[in-house]
Amino acid sequence: MDIVEISPEAVPFAKTGGLADVAGSLPLALEKQGAQVRLVLPAYSVIPYDRLSVEDSGIRFSVPISDRQEPAEVLQARVGQGVQVFFIKADRYFRREYLYSTPEGDYGDNAERFVFFSRAALELLRRIGAPEILHCHDWQTALVPVFLKASASSYPELGSVRTLMTIHNLGYQGVFWHLDWHLLSLPWEYFNPRQLEFYEKINFLKGGMVFADAISTVSKKYAEEIRTAEQGFGLEGVLQEHSSSLYGILNGVDYADWNPETDPFIARHYSKSDISGKKECKRDLQQVCGFPETADVPVLGVISRLADQKGFDLLAAIMEDLMGLGVQFVLLGTGEKKYHELFEQLQKRHSRGVRVFLRFDNALAHKIEAGADLFLMPSRYEPCGLNQMYSLKYGTVPVVRATGGLDDTVQELDPPGIGNGFRFSEYSPQAFLGAIRRALDAYRRPEQWGRLVANGMSADHSWERSAREYLDLFRRLREGSG
Ligand code: ADP
Repeated sequence: MDIVEISPEAVPFAKTGGLADVAGSLPLALEKQGAQVRLVLPAYSVIPYDRLSVEDSGIRFSVPISDRQEPAEVLQARVGQGVQVFFIKADRYFRREYLYSTPEGDYGDNAERFVFFSRAALELLRRIGAPEILHCHDWQTALVPVFLKASASSYPELGSVRTLMTIHNLGYQGVFWHLDWHLLSLPWEYFNPRQLEFYEKINFLKGGMVFADAISTVSKKYAEEIRTAEQGFGLEGVLQEHSSSLYGILNGVDYADWNPETDPFIARHYSKSDISGKKECKRDLQQVCGFPETADVPVLGVISRLADQKGFDLLAAIMEDLMGLGVQFVLLGTGEKKYHELFEQLQKRHSRGVRVFLRFDNALAHKIEAGADLFLMPSRYEPCGLNQMYSLKYGTVPVVRATGGLDDTVQELDPPGIGNGFRFSEYSPQAFLGAIRRALDAYRRPEQWGRLVANGMSADHSWERSAREYLDLFRRLREGSG
């Protein structure tokens, strides 16, 4: 199987979010299962070129954009055993401090930047050879399937390529005003509500969904939810129409980084067969937080971007009740200013039970996963979610809203102790508090708690499993049945 992944970001080269983890890990996992994988990225200035042995490939070409030709160079590197990584270099577009936006807002020419990147990726494939499968990620690469079909005569070498469009978060679609249409070099007839038009604007992701051979997203539940008006962000109709070729494949977790048996950031290693070290990790976390180091007080953890998506209005609404339940609460996150202010206030008001760290801190994230008893994710929506999967691995019982990937990975069963966590459905403070109360009841019953913890620690959310599902889908696509 010959696969090209096209992504706007990938670890270890450039990262703003979870997409980079997927685009970095999936090629390696696919390669381990025998696929030949190439990865195409923009050559941003933030990439540590020297450290990652990136070299000039010698490939040069020009890319049609509007009524001009823009020059591109191609750099290359290698990861894993033999995954080739190609970087499209065009300083005019990618030599900037950030990937997509500055603290003041999005770059004004993002439409042009990613039209260029998508066309350049296709020019590159004409030169280095067509893959069987072209896997595109998010709106920044969504025009690739559009150009392949709507400008097919420009890419005669790529006629047999099959495409998969993966949506990592439908909240981001790449919507631009119609005056940018000239950048796409396509006839106006494609600017219609069944293809690229969206309320009189151009919608890149919609184009990718319509023109790709299949669409996928990052959990089975999210693949269902985005077909509804509530979670479809206006694209539910398109997704309903393409539902026979819409798939949900859960992201994997990198257990080389997230494993309590080997984690270098935590106070003591532990495993499913000997969990005693977790007590020491809890004590260590309590110390970091300045909490009384009491073993039997439950510690509740949160690690998150502080954004509306993550359900912090629910958390704020139940904070007084939570403190009344005699727990310790630690939050690590950065994001919207209103949430920074909110959590600072809560910390002031409950200085003994609430500790808030408003920064990005990977080491502390590991300490919280290992040291907390419960992990809270009351998300309004959650395409996949990683922290609940880390929590399961660390024997930290998740309390989640049953949405997207949280619904796929966390089960609450009756009788208690048979599942691996606690869930609520209705988006309300009462429902959230109810799930936490059930979790705290279970916490007071050591035998039941032990079973929950062990169930969570047994789950396999490795990339190997995800890659197998992608390969199955790629095979079906190749055979024309995707
Ligand atoms: P999303 O991609 O929507 O932000 P995910 O749960 O899929 O949510 O992934 C978030 C990732 O970012 C996780 O690995 C999480 O641990 C990490 N993370 C988020 N905020 C912080 C922070 N302030 N410090 C350290 N890690 C963080």
